[in-house]
Amino acid sequence: MTFILSGAAVCQIVTPTPVPDPYWVAFSTNAAKLIGLNIAPNQLPADPAWLQVLAGNALQVAGRQFIEPTATAYSGHQFGMWAGQLGDGRAILLGDIQGQEIQLKGAGKTPYSRMGDGRAVLRSSIREYLCSEAMDALGIPTTRALAVVGSKQKVIRETIETAAVCTRLAPSFLRVGHFEHFASLQMHAELQILADDLISNFYPTCGDSTAPYLELFKAISARTAHLAAQWQAVGFCHGVLNTDNTSLLGLTMDYGPFGFLDQFQINHICNHSDSGGRYSYQRQPQILHWNMACLASAMLPLIEQEIKQVNASPSENDLSNAAQTTLRNALALYPDIYQKAWEAHFRAKLGLLETHSDDVALIEALLQLMHHNQIDFTTFFRHLASISALASTHQNTVLRDQFLNRDGFDAWLLRFRTRLQQEHSNDAERKQRMNQVNPKFILRNHLAQAAIEAAQLDDFSELARLATILRKPYDEQLEYEAYAQPPPAELNSIAVSCSS
Ligand code: AMP
Ligand code: MG
Repeated sequence: MTFILSGAAVCQIVTPTPVPDPYWVAFSTNAAKLIGLNIAPNQLPADPAWLQVLAGNALQVAGRQFIEPTATAYSGHQFGMWAGQLGDGRAILLGDIQGQEIQLKGAGKTPYSRMGDGRAVLRSSIREYLCSEAMDALGIPTTRALAVVGSKQKVIRETIETAAVCTRLAPSFLRVGHFEHFASLQMHAELQILADDLISNFYPTCGDSTAPYLELFKAISARTAHLAAQWQAVGFCHGVLNTDNTSLLGLTMDYGPFGFLDQFQINHICNHSDSGGRYSYQRQPQILHWNMACLASAMLPLIEQEIKQVNASPSENDLSNAAQTTLRNALALYPDIYQKAWEAHFRAKLGLLETHSDDVALIEALLQLMHHNQIDFTTFFRHLASISALASTHQNTVLRDQFLNRDGFDAWLLRFRTRLQQEHSNDAERKQRMNQVNPKFILRNHLAQAAIEAAQLDDFSELARLATILRKPYDEQLEYEAYAQPPPAELNSIAVSCSS
């Protein structure tokens, strides 16, 4: 653990609550490598102590004793409203191995569980496991999932389900909500310890600056802007982008009612509790910007302190104004960083190498067409890789037939081809390039659902198969063609709830 503070308002030692008769549901040999466990693909750890430790039933494995498992306090804004203290209500940090924190999610109550039972259900644990590992394979920064361990212990949600523990790995699980927590309680010394800890462990170059805390804010904000652009480019919707679910390392974290776009709908809402669409696909970049504004407010005391160091005795008022202006200016860098990253991702998705002034118009025209014609986001870009820069439109029936507005698509394609010809695009090279950024396989809800339903009947083979396919999202994997297809019409809109 990198964040060591004492005091009940910060973190508390807590022992996981055991579950009866734990069994393996899933294990990621890829994630295991991060903690120095080398296990052959599709195998489980040979040492049976791992199952007990990852179930929360034991604290000793491989000569290692986790002596002080902890849960931390954080606060946050949920759906735009200040929610006060939250905290690791069902996540327990065991300790760290090789710079990876090992956290059990669903291992029982903690001092921050409030009304909750501290448990996670099998369904949501499988979804978190699959998506963490799929996001990593897509090249998107994320917390990782080492394993899911199941138990027949009953857990009450909308129906009665069974418990599971998902083991997550990350260099740090710190969130914007940790800063907000200390700021709201005026715990300025802790704010500073948190910032110093982040700088020394994860943002070392900020430490070289004359204003390390300002640089830290800018660096977190820049990482977050890049993350937002990556989500938009792959059609990922987080679902609950509260500040307590926003990583300080720019990682995708806290997978709940997330979803990948099937049909491209700019205003798609993946979380059926989000009736107002606060966290819809199109709003994610601005919501993360809003979350960065919350971070900025929480960091105000640190920036004031930094200004005081260079300007010996400013009045209270001047100091506060100067700090606010400094942070406002830093916050204002986000939209441009995001926009540039977004353009770069979409240019790459279209296989374009050069930058032209009308690229954004070209991309936006395509997205509008895709929206109005409800085009499957993932298969579209994959098929687009095969078009020739020269051949006539009508040869591209696979793409063209998906559009109700064929004239609209023909007009766009003509524009795109002209653009490709301008940069003397080579068809074969472009296809290869595009296939490296446009995945063929994403975690579609209906695929996750099939794996979950089998797992609920104790058949984990579909889950293992799906996880394996999603580890190579850009490969053709011709034997798994069915997994690349959009959902059948009747499974088009599986609603995903917050309950997990
Ligand atoms: P989430 O929406 O999953 O990010 O959770 C919001 C807050 O509720 C976090 O502080 C969680 O730790 C807490 N929480 C969610 N589910 C439970 C649960 N079953 N038991 C205890 N705390 C929970
Ligand atoms: Mg959360």
